[in-house]
Amino acid sequence: MKVNVDRHACCGAGQCVMLAPDIFDQDDEGIVVLLDDRPGEDQEHALQEAVSMCPTGVIWVDRSA
Ligand code: SF4
Repeated sequence: MKVNVDRHACCGAGQCVMLAPDIFDQDDEGIVVLLDDRPGEDQEHALQEAVSMCPTGVIWVDRSA
């Protein structure tokens, strides 16, 4: 499993950071920074919440990777 983000399309809303702070952070301009692209199973729920709540839909998970 590999987490991906499109930083160019991120609007800096920050929901991902609030929902999954072990996986996502924001830079000085509020744009998402991926802290952990291969989070453990204990992060699965938080990750799914972040994917579903991201207003621009720029987080996706490749489960074949
Ligand atoms: S929730 Fe989506 S748009 Fe908001 S900071 Fe995270 S990746 Fe960017």
